[in-house]
Amino acid sequence: MIDTIQDKKEISKKLKERAIFEGFTIAGIASIPGSSRIKLRTKALERWLSCNHHAEMKWMETEKRKNISSLLEDAKSVLSVGFNYLSSQNKKPLFKVGKFGQGEDYHKVIYKKLKKIGKWINLEIPNCKWKICVDTSPLLEKAWAEESGLGWIGKNSNLINTKNGSWFTLGFLILTEDLIADKPHQSLCGKCEKCIEHCPTKAIVEPFVIQSDLCIAYHTIESKEQTIPKKIEENLNGWVAGCDICQDVCPWNKEVPYNHSFETTPKEWIKNLDIESLNWDDKTWEENLTGTTLKRVKPWMWRRNIKAILNNK
Ligand code: SF4
Ligand code: SF4
Repeated sequence: MIDTIQDKKEISKKLKERAIFEGFTIAGIASIPGSSRIKLRTKALERWLSCNHHAEMKWMETEKRKNISSLLEDAKSVLSVGFNYLSSQNKKPLFKVGKFGQGEDYHKVIYKKLKKIGKWINLEIPNCKWKICVDTSPLLEKAWAEESGLGWIGKNSNLINTKNGSWFTLGFLILTEDLIADKPHQSLCGKCEKCIEHCPTKAIVEPFVIQSDLCIAYHTIESKEQTIPKKIEENLNGWVAGCDICQDVCPWNKEVPYNHSFETTPKEWIKNLDIESLNWDDKTWEENLTGTTLKRVKPWMWRRNIKAILNNK
């Protein structure tokens, strides 16, 4: 345990520097249980769930998501990190894939880096316990990232950073050490509503609120329905897995620096995805999807999505 404020400041600073050293673009720290903003975000989640805006994503309902301490006993702080996935090689072929999914599986990329940071912490603070959370853990991720000062939750429901826009994925290291927290970030959306205006299916039903069963990303990645509803199908605009429209139009995403690391380099097949892919058998799809975040989109779902796009050509 670290006793003096000076030592806490020192280790908190070093921890964030370590995160950048490991390849993260941004890093910040929040104290647990967090400010009243976390309560506000928890209430917002409850309202979203009670409206059934999560559609078939029932895992969102878990009570654990509302209590970060349920993930690690005696948790005192959380290190939030962002990994920029914007590559200079991102392309929009005939069938478009969300930029987050074009390179290496970000869960693995982030997990490996956070594990190295955890080991480093134990050299500095031997009795500090830690737990890694990347996407699949029940955690109010964007709320904790906002609390850690990484950015703000935009009206399109993405976390936005002034330098990196929203082209990054999040990771968290929950710690039993009490560290010095950063200031929560203020919203900088202002009067802008570009994301709401440009969403082709009107899925942003009010600022910050996405109705999943109207969202292209939900229908192409999460939905296990055999067909895509007509209203969505007619508005796919070539998106076969994910949808970046409400991020592409965001002014904060216009001048984001590329991350040139190998982990963000898009897979060749994703860069060139065309009608030929309809002839791929399951084995070919599975081979292509190995090592990517998109392996949760099963071969039959890719075929469903491609056919839906072609129905409206
Ligand atoms: S991901 Fe696409 S469909 Fe979903 S809210 Fe954004 S623009 Fe709309
Ligand atoms: S497009 Fe405008 S309103 Fe939407 S998230 Fe970006 S800044 Fe906020």
